Amino acid sequence: MSIRPTSWRRCKAIDVMTFDQALKKARERLAATSSTAALDAEVLLLALSGKSRAWLYGFGDTELESTLAARFDEWVERRAAGEPVAYLLGFREFFGLQLEVSRATLIPRPDTELLVEQALALAGSASGRALDLGTGSGAIALAFASQCPDWQVTGCDRVPDAVTLAQRNAERLGLGNTRWLHSRWFDHHELAPHSFALIMSNPPYIAEHDRHLDQGDVRFEPRSALVAGSDGLDDIREIIAASPRYLASQGWLLLEHGYDQAAAVRHLMEQHGFSQIASARDLGGHERVTFGQCAVATDAA
Ligand code: GLN
Repeated sequence: MSIRPTSWRRCKAIDVMTFDQALKKARERLAATSSTAALDAEVLLLALSGKSRAWLYGFGDTELESTLAARFDEWVERRAAGEPVAYLLGFREFFGLQLEVSRATLIPRPDTELLVEQALALAGSASGRALDLGTGSGAIALAFASQCPDWQVTGCDRVPDAVTLAQRNAERLGLGNTRWLHSRWFDHHELAPHSFALIMSNPPYIAEHDRHLDQGDVRFEPRSALVAGSDGLDDIREIIAASPRYLASQGWLLLEHGYDQAAAVRHLMEQHGFSQIASARDLGGHERVTFGQCAVATDAA
């Protein structure tokens, strides 16, 4: 019987897809739930296949091997259910550094690169000590440490898995000028008073009933890294109040905050004796980072 092989081949030809066909199908599947459907599909397929974008453009008519097709399908379904691309990949680029990310921490965002840029601009000397409170994946501390090799950078987080992750990122990037502490804000006894020229933080700053918590990537990120009381300022208030005790004289505190919180943050800094207070705008034109200088070292917590 010669019919069987022919029909089997025909049947198989329907199942097997080329890279281009798989991408088209994934784009269509993701179009309803992602505003970056085409990019998501491509990034996920390139990561799974280990191919480059250039290869894809030249050889998109290559057939996808069945286990790769199955894994791609699974990722596309998870992405369609809203899972962030960074969690699927396990990596996100931040300030030119490839960072491992996990569900224990926020996914580093471009907005936060502004905080690092401001910190670099304020770091007046070639060496000093900097602290990143609530470091998560270590993004801020690592970006700063990579640009300022003669600074000692400490990253703290109250979530043990975050500390482990940040440490792993530091090791992979070979950034030995960092240390990592398990600490809720300033609680760790190794954080010496008046020792930091810079304190930086991207703390939780979303109000607990903010509707934005039900949209996009934040649905999959740890609530404890996002939400800070009824106005989103609980943690910011605590950090501003405690920072003067840990800042060296003339040291700077830099905070990322919500798009509508800059005036409140400036006011809190004024109340706690900071000077040279100013805010910087993100790429969307929102005041996103506020900083102030601790003119006189004080022991008031
Ligand atoms: N910028 C993040 C967002 O709005 C929140 C980060 C944070 O709370 N620190 O999605």
